Amino acid sequence: MKLFGWYFKSNLLVRILLGLILGAVCGIVFGPAMTWASPFGEIFIRLLKMIVMPVILFTLTVGAASVHPSQLGRVGVKALIIYMISTGFAVSFGLICGNLFRPGKGIQIAASAAEGVKANVSVPSLVDTLINVVPVNPFGAIAEGNVLPVIFFCLLFGIGLAYARNSEDEQISQSGETVFRFFNGGAEIMYMVVHWILQYAPIGVFALIADVFGKQGAEAFGPLGWTTLAVYLAFVGHMLLIYGGMLMVFKLSPFAFFSKAKGAIVTAFVTRSSGGTLPVSMEAADSKMGISQGVYSFSLPLGATINMDGTAIYQGVCAIFVGFAIGTPLTFSQQLTIIATSLLASIGTAGVPGAGAIMLMMVLESVGLKVEPGSPVAMAYAMIFGIDALLDMGRTACNVTGDLAVTCIVAKSENEMDSSYWQKEEQMVGQLSEPLAD
Ligand code: ASP
Repeated sequence: MKLFGWYFKSNLLVRILLGLILGAVCGIVFGPAMTWASPFGEIFIRLLKMIVMPVILFTLTVGAASVHPSQLGRVGVKALIIYMISTGFAVSFGLICGNLFRPGKGIQIAASAAEGVKANVSVPSLVDTLINVVPVNPFGAIAEGNVLPVIFFCLLFGIGLAYARNSEDEQISQSGETVFRFFNGGAEIMYMVVHWILQYAPIGVFALIADVFGKQGAEAFGPLGWTTLAVYLAFVGHMLLIYGGMLMVFKLSPFAFFSKAKGAIVTAFVTRSSGGTLPVSMEAADSKMGISQGVYSFSLPLGATINMDGTAIYQGVCAIFVGFAIGTPLTFSQQLTIIATSLLASIGTAGVPGAGAIMLMMVLESVGLKVEPGSPVAMAYAMIFGIDALLDMGRTACNVTGDLAVTCIVAKSENEMDSSYWQKEEQMVGQLSEPLAD
């Protein structure tokens, strides 16, 4: 173990980036000779696929069960609805940007996958997708890896669990608590496993990227840069137009908002974790935005768990990327399905680094783009995964901004906000250059 001490001690992000760069360089230099590396990439994809179902099962159930039914009152329902609406806007925004920018166009992975590996595309209709959300057998859905029915079942199970935990009947509440602890333990263990798998990510990314660049050559750089640009433009557009617009409807100055939220936004950007940023967002809501504790103490953790607008945008753009990259652009009905799946996937995405990339795999599968080892879809996915850190920074910043914006709106509409905090700020709109750590 000592031999590899340097590996585990060095920064994971740096290692993944090194894997990406080395993979690209080796692929370009050695060309198709790099296919020897592909089994290492396949192992990585298999490891990721291995954890998707358990992660959903445990984290989504815990997420749904954590909200006490009694707490899910006015404030909760309001926050929930606004979170969902803003995420709906987000994923549509992502799809619009994806359609405008057409990232991935010209890569033609399918054509270059010389060994006759065909793009594994089968397009389910929208009505079928909706009907199939209700599983006839939840265990069958888990075994077959059908994401939407599993999400549906876990949500129902989690809400039932929340009721059981809060039951007046002591026996029921105790059993509810035991079940909750079991799932909570499972979720914690899954985070641990995810952490271990990520230790392998640099090697997996190296192998996958070397394979892609070995077959594609240097042209693969352009589409990835283009994708990053499209994703970031969608993030910034969503933050300014949707959040800015929503704040203005509730007579809150977007300038003042961003000035107050900037500490949390920067923390999210560097930590790539909504959950990790929570203390900073709470502090901003409390001492900079004048929001009552009753609102933010519920709405912010809820947002950090289920509201992932940045992640939804990223999924929209990247799904379009994968479609173009394999030479089968997404149809309109597939894009409608993606709006629904991303909305649900954002509920299931944990507020930890890289979680959205795992959920992207489910979003792709929901429209028939199966990430099978060796397939063109897996190669396109690997390209996106290679630059995930970069995309994750922006999407986490967008996620946290959304949590704070919606919390402000809920607080304002419920008269749970001390407006003097905002008047002061509005007078100082010109002085936005104060230090971040103020
Ligand atoms: N890192 C994101 C967050 O914590 C989740 C994601 O990977 O999309 O909000």
